[in-house]
Amino acid sequence: MIKIETLKIGWFLTVFTTNCYVVSQGKDCVVIDPPLCQKEYVFDYLQKNNLVPQAILLTHGHCDHCGGVEQLLKKYNVPVYCHQNDLQLASIVAYNPFKIPAVNCFPQPYPSMSLDFGSLHFDVVETFGHTQGSVLLLLEDKMFSGDTLFYRSIGRTDFPESDINLMNNSVEKLKTFTKDYVVFPGHGETTTLFDELQNNPYLIKQ
Ligand SMILES: [Zn+2]
Repeated sequence: MIKIETLKIGWFLTVFTTNCYVVSQGKDCVVIDPPLCQKEYVFDYLQKNNLVPQAILLTHGHCDHCGGVEQLLKKYNVPVYCHQNDLQLASIVAYNPFKIPAVNCFPQPYPSMSLDFGSLHFDVVETFGHTQGSVLLLLEDKMFSGDTLFYRSIGRTDFPESDINLMNNSVEKLKTFTKDYVVFPGHGETTTLFDELQNNPYLIKQ
């Protein structure tokens, strides 16, 4: 039974909150998108639940999704994966449009578009647009959509690293999915893909 813990973490707690996900099944565990935080919420959760992550997965390279990596690497010697197009974005400490403290993050590229961590099998799907290296992470009937897809919205495309044409392609890709996923976005509330395909103004099939 896969367990997904949603940790809503912001630098100032309630302002600018990012969803960090701890995915586990038995002893198998990965952390998705750990943001920087004054308190070690992710580590505390892992410890309390006797979990040791096997990897940290990033949906994209924005610092509100990878700012907590360094903190976790002090506790766990694990690989950190990001799409190769976003490696630079993640590692540029000075690049910080969100006005939150910047930190080092040096991920390595996803070694494959299909990843296994014990019993946890992830597929990585390229959905560029919000950034040049944004991906979806699929796990059985669950979709970690990062800042590509939100409840009733999609990710911003007004950053220098964004590309609205790529985002349009990604939206078209989402419309081709025939399986209904539970969507765990980078910000905001959980939804489902079919619900979004019917009700999200950016996704409604014409
Ligand atoms: Zn982002």
